[in-house]
Amino acid sequence: MEHTPQLSIVIPAYNEAACLGPLLGELNAALAGGPTYEVLCVDDGSTDGTLEVLRSTRERLPQLRIVRHHSRSGQSAALWTGFGRAKAPWIATLDADGQNDPRDLPRLLEARDASPEREELWLVTGIRRKRRDTLLKRVSSRVANAVRGRLLRDGISDTGCGLKLMHRARILTLPRFDHMHRFLPALVMRSGGRVLTVEVGHRPRTAGTTKYGVRNRLFVGVVDLLGVLWLQRRTTHPIIEEEL
Ligand code: UDP
Ligand code: MG
Repeated sequence: MEHTPQLSIVIPAYNEAACLGPLLGELNAALAGGPTYEVLCVDDGSTDGTLEVLRSTRERLPQLRIVRHHSRSGQSAALWTGFGRAKAPWIATLDADGQNDPRDLPRLLEARDASPEREELWLVTGIRRKRRDTLLKRVSSRVANAVRGRLLRDGISDTGCGLKLMHRARILTLPRFDHMHRFLPALVMRSGGRVLTVEVGHRPRTAGTTKYGVRNRLFVGVVDLLGVLWLQRRTTHPIIEEEL
């Protein structure tokens, strides 16, 4: 791509061969007449033909860039691989399974543009109005969000939504660790950045399987939560009074 796009869309994908083709078509339609954009699909070491689907989609979607991990490294790692390669000043993220509706993306862009705090704005995060997941996932997510919200005081009711919009250079200054994507609002606030929320839709997964269960979400989440609490406690923002 010759010119710097206005928006980079980063999509982490692990074994999402059946979902990606339709999703990329929807995304293209949702952004018609909008900002110039590139789509960075990060194949997190898939074994189901995801790479082949991406390759063939690229023939009709020249804005598509493909990066592939040698082996599965996790959603956060895939997102960071995309963040580091994104060319636009703003990045949008979206899950590859189609559970996020690309038609919500323009609303995140509008919220950013209408914000009086745009200079301090780091992150616009989607809040899923009605989760279309299994009962077990909805309940465990509700518990995790409640505990996280109480301890981190980030005031965000749903941090796991894959649909987000963020300022690239600012986000790249955040600490990087596995599962950090669920703590983005708290990490941004810790750095003094502003976070906006926008209610978005959510759709059932139509193909493929979820990559998370109680074991690799809830239990791992406790360790991550303690880590982020520690980071919050150990943060100072000195005000420079004089510099000669
Ligand atoms: N994902 C990934 N690597 C992983 C786990 C997940 O790239 O190790 C991607 C996955 O393909 C999807 C997104 O992260 O695009 C969210 O995962 P999933 O839909 O399974 O999460 P859920 O919606 O069930 O919480
Ligand atoms: Mg999903």
